[in-house]
Amino acid sequence: MKIAVVGGTGYVGLTTAVCLAAKGHIVFCVGRNREKIEKIRRGFPVIYERGLKNLLEEVLANRTLKATVNLDKAIQGSDVSFICVGTPCGDDGSIDLTQIRNATKQMGCALRDKVGYHVVVVKSTVVPGTTENVVLPILEKFSGKRAGVDFGICMNPEFLREGRAVDDFMFPRDVGIVIGEFDQKSGDLLSKIYGNFDGEIFRTSIRAAEMIKYARNSYLAKDVSFANEIANVCQRLGVDYLDVKKGMEMDARIGEGRFLDAGAGFGGSCFPKDVSAIVAEAKESGIAPVLLESALKVNEAQPYELVRLTKEVVGNPLKGKRIAVLGLAFKPGTDDMREAPSIKVVNSLLREGCEISVYDNKAVGNAKRIFEDKVEYAEKAEEALRYADACVIVTEWPEFADPKLYTCMRGRVIIDGRRVLNPTTLPPGFTYHAIGFPRAVKT
Ligand code: NAD
Repeated sequence: MKIAVVGGTGYVGLTTAVCLAAKGHIVFCVGRNREKIEKIRRGFPVIYERGLKNLLEEVLANRTLKATVNLDKAIQGSDVSFICVGTPCGDDGSIDLTQIRNATKQMGCALRDKVGYHVVVVKSTVVPGTTENVVLPILEKFSGKRAGVDFGICMNPEFLREGRAVDDFMFPRDVGIVIGEFDQKSGDLLSKIYGNFDGEIFRTSIRAAEMIKYARNSYLAKDVSFANEIANVCQRLGVDYLDVKKGMEMDARIGEGRFLDAGAGFGGSCFPKDVSAIVAEAKESGIAPVLLESALKVNEAQPYELVRLTKEVVGNPLKGKRIAVLGLAFKPGTDDMREAPSIKVVNSLLREGCEISVYDNKAVGNAKRIFEDKVEYAEKAEEALRYADACVIVTEWPEFADPKLYTCMRGRVIIDGRRVLNPTTLPPGFTYHAIGFPRAVKT
């Protein structure tokens, strides 16, 4: 099938475009930034995702992917178009639909001259009612055509996880495929695209599809905040949270594989903004979303737990101490720093008057835009650690799990925000403390 992906320079858009092209479709990857589109044309994905570069090179070589800034031509030449633009939240937490409105308007104009049937698919995360009350009327207004007659419309939430986006998209076995359809014809065409994917397809109403995405993210975010709160209680009561977690997972009703890892809190472009957006929607509709607001509140405070532990071990005030911060991306496997807990940790340590050296192999480019010249950027973990009085592990990149890494440190204090290290494996002379760990130990 011929497909246009609007928002093709973003995490979801580029992954969607490259993966659909790899599945044999002809894909127009549409962006608005010429420089980024030029990079994609030359085989450089503008984001980091494992496996994406190889797959991009493959689909460019076999000519199934064309990167373009010409949205009009892409829509004219395709049967289905996906909207993958950003849906950030505004200052009050509610969803900001500016990118959706602009993209939809452009797509509506392009549809005006389009010959033949076309289905527009909203893949961006949008609050229930957006596809029918915002996207559809804009498309009808600017195309002069009618939904359900001249063009079709679907909502197809995306469940990929950054850090493993390509695998998640290509093999949706664990998450399934949800198709919210305006009518059967629209849903039939979209289902065809997913015909050769190994994942259950669930066809439902557009509003249900929109809500499923929020329900899933809210459910998982609440699990993370639950784990963090219990870990904080464990720490104060002198109990190791890892033992508690293991004991909880023995109960089949709780089960292994749930979001029970405690840490520095959730970040990224989805959980924080999606929970905020559905909280705002719920309030608007007259509901007090107590549980979801609490999940956000716990998460808001969690990064500061690392700063508190640092003070507990290094001493208060921290002024003048040199701290190495390892891991900046909101999770391993990505360069994405949107809402990353590391931002709060670093800024808080800076306010305390610390000197900061940071290291993250993938996210350093994004970090430079955020922290500018306020911190030192190390090219290797050892470089960040060497002259540090203490180090704080914020993101669990696998390289931080090697106890030998820390032997170069001047001040041998480790605050482990993700429980990546087992203190019994550290050489003698270290002080180790962690989230959900009963008390600082000396090795
Ligand atoms: P992003 O900011 O990385 O990407 C959005 C892209 O759209 C940007 O590159 C932007 O330049 C482009 N864009 C905006 N308007 C455009 C236009 N008119 N024409 C062409 N390009 C345009 O955002 P993202 O993380 O990819 O998220 C996109 C959507 O998918 C959001 O709604 C998000 O909630 C949802 N989502 C994200 C993830 C994730 O892990 N990042 C997972 C599932 C769903």
